[in-house]
Amino acid sequence: KVIATVAPVTDSENPTTQSPSPTPRSVLITGGNRGIGRAIAEAFVANGDHVAVTSRKGGAPDGALDLLCDITDPDAVDEAYAAAEAAHGPIEVLVANAGITKDTLVLRMSEDDFTSVIDTNLTASFRLAKRATKSMLRLRRGRIIFISSVIGLLGNAGQVNYAASKAGLVGMARSLARELGSRGITANVVAPGFVATEMTEALTEEQAKAITDKVPLGRYAAPEEVAAAVTWLADAGYVTGAVIPVDGGLGMGH
Ligand code: NDP
Repeated sequence: KVIATVAPVTDSENPTTQSPSPTPRSVLITGGNRGIGRAIAEAFVANGDHVAVTSRKGGAPDGALDLLCDITDPDAVDEAYAAAEAAHGPIEVLVANAGITKDTLVLRMSEDDFTSVIDTNLTASFRLAKRATKSMLRLRRGRIIFISSVIGLLGNAGQVNYAASKAGLVGMARSLARELGSRGITANVVAPGFVATEMTEALTEEQAKAITDKVPLGRYAAPEEVAAAVTWLADAGYVTGAVIPVDGGLGMGH
């Protein structure tokens, strides 16, 4: 009886390489000045990686390169990449985290409410991933990680725009996974449930209780709990096209 064994491959020339590269990696995180993105940036900095963080207002955590960039502006994205690459080398890990909500019921949702959320959450993620892919193809390794949401899988009244944008990230990641897998590039999605950040501070106490009542773990996530899934994906050599839930069980089965 022959048992095939497959040893992890670490040769950077080989597309089956187990991890993107030894630490430090060049990492770009959008929306890293607060909330989930900030916790992700802090986790990569703590790991010894070279981290660039983009946002419109600025304020990256200590140890990260602070880049002002509105991700809905293609020229600004190009400039941010150029600055990050000049400082840290080609991007090996992209975390497309920046996102917005503009919640309202469908009959009140304007075209602008819809398209502005799609522009920031989905179209900008395409732009960021396309730009990252250029150098990752040359390196023959890379990690693309989109921060989606359990709402993209479950849907939510008042969030037609947001849910559509977050569901779109799943199709995008899976297409990238198929297109780029042979070059050692993975594309995955992290789907958080409700996380204690400025985004969820906008909810009333009553809305928050209604949510936690439905979460098997009975609480919101801490941003660091989402960051842990992201850093795990950045290390994972044989995971691609996956949707990793960090939702306390809220979306299980989807
Ligand atoms: P916050 O509202 O706290 O932070 C949003 C981040 O995105 C900020 O850093 C903001 O920076 C940045 N951002 C927004 N628009 C733009 C833009 N046009 N260009 C550049 N940066 C932008 O959100 P969270 O930390 O809560 O959420 C982070 C991600 O996680 C989002 O994609 C969100 O949809 C997702 N998520 C959040 C959940 C939650 O419960 N909090 C649950 C599930 C998913 P600045 O304003 O300075 O530009």
